[in-house]
Amino acid sequence: MTYNQLYINGKWIPTQKGNTFQSIDPSTEEVIAHVACASVEDAELAVHAAREAFDNGSWSELSGKERAFYLRAIAKEIRDNLKEISSLEVKDNGKPYPEAEWDISDAAGCFEFYANLAESLDEKSEEKIVLSDDRFSCVATKEPVGVACAIIPWNYPLLMAAWKVAPALAAGCTMILKPAEATSLTAVELGRIAEKVGLPNGVLNILTGYGREIGPYLTEHPDIDKVAFTGSVPVGKQIMQSAASNVKNISLELGGKSAFIVFDDSDIAAAVEWIMFGIFWNQGQVCSATSRVLVQEGIYPKLMDRLIEESQKIKIGNGFEEGVKLGPLVNQKQYQNVVDAIQCGIKDNITLLSGGKQPDNHSKGYFIEPTIFADVPEEHPLWTEEIFGPVVSIRSFKAEDEAIKSANNSIFGLAGAVMSKDVDRCNRVARKLKAGIIWINCSQPTFTEAPWGGYKQSGIGRELGLWGLENYLEVKQITSYDSQEPWAWYIQ
Ligand code: NAD
Repeated sequence: MTYNQLYINGKWIPTQKGNTFQSIDPSTEEVIAHVACASVEDAELAVHAAREAFDNGSWSELSGKERAFYLRAIAKEIRDNLKEISSLEVKDNGKPYPEAEWDISDAAGCFEFYANLAESLDEKSEEKIVLSDDRFSCVATKEPVGVACAIIPWNYPLLMAAWKVAPALAAGCTMILKPAEATSLTAVELGRIAEKVGLPNGVLNILTGYGREIGPYLTEHPDIDKVAFTGSVPVGKQIMQSAASNVKNISLELGGKSAFIVFDDSDIAAAVEWIMFGIFWNQGQVCSATSRVLVQEGIYPKLMDRLIEESQKIKIGNGFEEGVKLGPLVNQKQYQNVVDAIQCGIKDNITLLSGGKQPDNHSKGYFIEPTIFADVPEEHPLWTEEIFGPVVSIRSFKAEDEAIKSANNSIFGLAGAVMSKDVDRCNRVARKLKAGIIWINCSQPTFTEAPWGGYKQSGIGRELGLWGLENYLEVKQITSYDSQEPWAWYIQ
């Protein structure tokens, strides 16, 4: 397979300057592909194609049912090629194969979900509004926002693309997809799928390249009506600034440092399972990872012993190896970020209970052991900053109020979790946590039907579910004066 072309206006074209960048398998550090590196000139072609397809093409005029046909065809292609696409994701991102298969299957499910919502738009795109003055009648209609640009990260490459492409297309928007440079391969496959199912030209354009080069051009471009971004807080802030140039509609899904509160009455095995799933799944490169854990003091020593024991049993290795539950970090840069964060904890004498280094039998690849820090002070960077790696910071607490206060003491507000056998307590705490996603007696399971997004610096807006579709719709009111009586303000 080749990845050195861009998918623009339904055609595969080389970049105008002929530039490519390397994609590296993070398990082996070997080059697996040369990917087209778009310049601003290439980005302009993609914007033009998406604009033309929206303004002069048929896509936004199709019924929801007709658009749903294409979304279902995309889902089917993903499902029919599940193994190949999942394998590509493992090579490009490093995640264990079973996780990749789960992601890719979820991506197909996302296209199916938004196919259903596209159909429902046919019935629900106009809503009658009852006004307080019966001389007028009013309807609210929903229309596609226009040309949307999706800029996505590398942690769930195809799934993050699906979260944006599926609702945008369902709504009738046209789109430019800019995958993360570290993991562009499955986005290119999505372009091949779009071509195969006959998606009209220009409806989906795939622009691989460096965010720092083409990102600002896209986010400032007057012909782009909406930017949907998932990524880091610093880049999110830059996007807000450049989108201000033409008051562009933006949605931002940013970072997190989510807290998991575990009460004394919890089952220790279940708590350890979910703490590990909350931070070691996907190598901890998860925006909603519960990377801060607050454990009530009664079970703190026992729970920590079990957590150390279980985390040391995790099999680390190449994602294709049987039984591997922890792959490498996505690239050298992310590996270094995580190593630096761990070193900062060690230098400041924070208690390192387990892990903290590259596993002994892995000299190649960006592997880091599952790492546990205990009694982490609330003001330490290990407790306050997103690490985006398999590193968990833990503290004990005495009382419920203290735990809630500590959990909420963060610039982030993406997610949170609470565990207790007392259902009332779980519900009470869930409602007091200042975050957009709260898990009770678990951490991380994510469903296409439910809203996803953060409070505070974790972002603006919600994806998934109905909320995800609304991201790509404008609401218009149409009000008519139905009375035969003259208005008679100026002319009596
Ligand atoms: P990143 O912000 O570095 O990059 C994200 C994307 O933005 C990439 O495609 C990149 O090329 C592009 N980009 C970079 N500079 C840009 C610019 N100036 N203008 C426009 N685009 C630009 O993030 P990352 O390292 O790829 O991903 C990790 C971050 O993403 C973490 O902070 C994580 O929490 C966050 N994330 C959030 C969610 C969520 O749903 N909230 C999901 C996944 C990841």
